[in-house]
Amino acid sequence: MKSAYITGTNQIEIRQNEQPVPLPGELLVKIAYCGICTLEQRLYTGQRSIYLPIIAGHEASGTIVAIGSAVASNHAVGDHVTLDLVNRCHICPECLSGNSNLCESRFNKGQQVLGGFSEYMTVRAEQAHLLPKELPLEHAALTEPLACAIRSLKKVGLKLGDSLLICGSGTMGLLHMKVAMAMGAKVIMCDIDKGRLQDAQKMGCAAILDASDTEYIVEKLQSLTRGRGVDCCIITSTSEAAAKVAFQALAPAARINLFTSYDDKPAFPIDMNSVHRQEYQITGSEGRSEIDFNQAVRVLSNRTVEVGDLISKIFPLDAIEEAMTAAMDRKTYRVLVKVD
Ligand SMILES: [Zn+2]
Ligand SMILES: [Zn+2]
Repeated sequence: MKSAYITGTNQIEIRQNEQPVPLPGELLVKIAYCGICTLEQRLYTGQRSIYLPIIAGHEASGTIVAIGSAVASNHAVGDHVTLDLVNRCHICPECLSGNSNLCESRFNKGQQVLGGFSEYMTVRAEQAHLLPKELPLEHAALTEPLACAIRSLKKVGLKLGDSLLICGSGTMGLLHMKVAMAMGAKVIMCDIDKGRLQDAQKMGCAAILDASDTEYIVEKLQSLTRGRGVDCCIITSTSEAAAKVAFQALAPAARINLFTSYDDKPAFPIDMNSVHRQEYQITGSEGRSEIDFNQAVRVLSNRTVEVGDLISKIFPLDAIEEAMTAAMDRKTYRVLVKVD
């Protein structure tokens, strides 16, 4: 079978290797599509490293083709699945408190990490979430980023009628937007990229704001919220200026979640006294638990949230290099690799 290996900085190559055999408790999945996320881009450009060579890809969908012994679940050959490629031990304090995204064993050595850019892969049965056949497998490849957005929105306790400011209108910002709209929030999208804001508007958000308009942006946010400021805010942009604006436009008792990761270690752009006086709640979110993942599967399966318009381009596995370049272009949202 073919797999795409990142072998060094800006180096990725297709190699032939043995098709894996499922161990007890595992399934063999024929991968259909796998998305290219920021992690894969960083591994490719050398900004991050796990080990080399590595088969990247953690946003994969596919079909079960074989079942190992001792699989007690209802998985069957031919079932469509979306893969939750995190290692969760299920017995550490984090796993047992609903935060399995922070499982203390998730990076322990000897475990398979990523692996979606491959024609076949073996996974533990618990990692393969069943999908209805009607859901296109391309859409299913967006389960993982959608699950991360769902976790992030739980952090701000989004409620019907809340106003929500989303800083950053890329794939992750738009996924947050779609979920928040389904939950009945008034969503305001903010970005410096006018094309992205136009897309957000077409997809139905309540208002768009040009982040480069620094002089009036806080004023505009106030006028969009009848002078109160926003109830909730999600930061998906790595720009420190985005967080600075957000903190100036929060309603009393507002909740703000830092969804993005930062390249360096910026300090909070707010004084501690205003957090105290205004009862702001500041949270972070990282990845997704299996509970979030299951909810993403359900909203995709029920077609409560549609993600097809966020798939910008699809490349065959053999064109993985082109796919990586396309994924890093600001003009694209999700780029998928068609593996089968
Ligand atoms: Zn991802
Ligand atoms: Zn654990």
